[in-house]
Amino acid sequence: MLSTMQDEPLSLATLLKYASTFQGESTVSTWTGSGVRTMTYREMGAEAARLANALRGFGIGVGDRVGTFMWNNNEHMVAYIAVPAMGAVLHALNIRLFPEQLVYVANHAEDQVVIVDGSLVPMFAQYLPNLKTVRHVIVANGDASTLQAPEGVQVHSYTELLAAQPDTFDFPVIDERSAAAMCYTSGTTGDPKGVVYSHRSNWLHAMQVCSPMGMGFTGSDNVLAIVPLFHANAWGLPYAALMSGANVLMPDRFLQPGPLLEMMADQLPTFAAAVPTIWGGVLAGLAAKPQDISHLRTAVVGGSAVPPSMMRAFQEQHGVRILHAWGMTETSPLGSVAHPPAGVTGEEEWEYRYTQGRFPASVQARLVGDDGAVVPNDGESLGELEVRGPWITASYYSPDGGVIDPDKFDDGWLRTGDVGKISPNGYLTLVDRSKDVIKSGGEWISSVDLENAVIGHPSVAEAAVIGVPDEKWDERPLVAVVLAEGAEAKAEELRDFLADKFAKWQLPERWTFIAEVPKTSVGKFDKKRLRAQYADGDLTVTTLS
Ligand code: AMP
Repeated sequence: MLSTMQDEPLSLATLLKYASTFQGESTVSTWTGSGVRTMTYREMGAEAARLANALRGFGIGVGDRVGTFMWNNNEHMVAYIAVPAMGAVLHALNIRLFPEQLVYVANHAEDQVVIVDGSLVPMFAQYLPNLKTVRHVIVANGDASTLQAPEGVQVHSYTELLAAQPDTFDFPVIDERSAAAMCYTSGTTGDPKGVVYSHRSNWLHAMQVCSPMGMGFTGSDNVLAIVPLFHANAWGLPYAALMSGANVLMPDRFLQPGPLLEMMADQLPTFAAAVPTIWGGVLAGLAAKPQDISHLRTAVVGGSAVPPSMMRAFQEQHGVRILHAWGMTETSPLGSVAHPPAGVTGEEEWEYRYTQGRFPASVQARLVGDDGAVVPNDGESLGELEVRGPWITASYYSPDGGVIDPDKFDDGWLRTGDVGKISPNGYLTLVDRSKDVIKSGGEWISSVDLENAVIGHPSVAEAAVIGVPDEKWDERPLVAVVLAEGAEAKAEELRDFLADKFAKWQLPERWTFIAEVPKTSVGKFDKKRLRAQYADGDLTVTTLS
């Protein structure tokens, strides 16, 4: 028996229509360095129509890829909704990729048009001659005439192009399983892999972001989207904002702690999202120059493990709740979110908040041991996390059809490469990436636990732990420490600081003090580069007896 329900496809065209009418007074604003330039969702709807008309004029139709090479700003938000709403596929390019990777992903995705921020034109100009499928470049927020077009490529000014277009467009409602957007993974090994989101997956995911189990967006929120729009579907923020009528604040290129704090003081966002390295910088900025940031009801932090000391510092010193979440480009990205269960208080509540979070109903999760068998969710047994659900990819993009790599997929489940444990009530605690796991004398040492503990020392600004070869134990941890500005600490003192938190055999004897932990294109610790620095003898290591 079939239901009597209407078979209405979930569509980003419907979302655009809704946001630009019933939520038409809500706004997206971009920080200019001293204030904001603001556009209502109603104006955004008209601009989206103009962009869609311009793209259609270039011959862009359903399924064609349109790239962006942009900061987070109003124009990027317009593209984020206009491109999928017209049935084309938005491909937000990661502006921080290595040149050969950037060229690889744009060619692999077969981007036909790229919208580029004026300030990024000099960088983009280096790549353009190698982009094989790009026929049109649209320069927003800058001078299009500065970009030399190779033969066969036309360069347009965003403002002039859009000014000549009608501000209505008949956005089609297409099959909800159609491609809406794509993102490439930002891993440090091998070529980036393409993930293609559908209208349906983005819609359902946005509902999860809006739900109290997710980030709980409402029309009263002002969401500071620090996470780049090219990182993992922007954590779902743009579509969730459009769905809830939340205002969005875009930082553009002003991503240092100083300017972030200035825009917070001026715009009083209620919600913000970024990786831990950004929040570490903000915390240091606040220590140097105190400021009230209690207007933030929540800051969602993910992408890497959030050190408990950072969560407590934000809560206790600044009245800001850090919400820890786990996800991946492959999972749209929202997987688990660390809301504690009802009724827990005090230290028990903190223990829940430190975890990577609880899985929602739409994300099924299991752990698989080295022997391929599923291990129990008993809060102790470790295994590789595997997930499945309506916003989790079932393959990687290939022009010839999806690629189901057995290293990454297991009988319909996505293998995440993350190792951890799950409690009976569905909370995930990660101990490592499988490739970062340290095995010492056959026993695991969690690099994440060590990092979290070392960063809790007041003299430490950043700490990254890698496994290094050891004759006796096969592998031992090496701690790379970045000291806080003006602070001093010796390896002995730091090891003593860990003594009551770890078993004796887990305590690291190898320490190195460095100026900066190498970072990936999305601001995570790049342990591959750190390992290479160690292997090349570039690190000065102190070995304690
Ligand atoms: P990306 O696709 O760049 O978002 O990277 C996804 C990976 O980031 C995951 O597979 C994890 O290894 C890591 N990650 C994301 N969130 C967390 C978190 N809260 N704690 C620890 N690792 C995380």
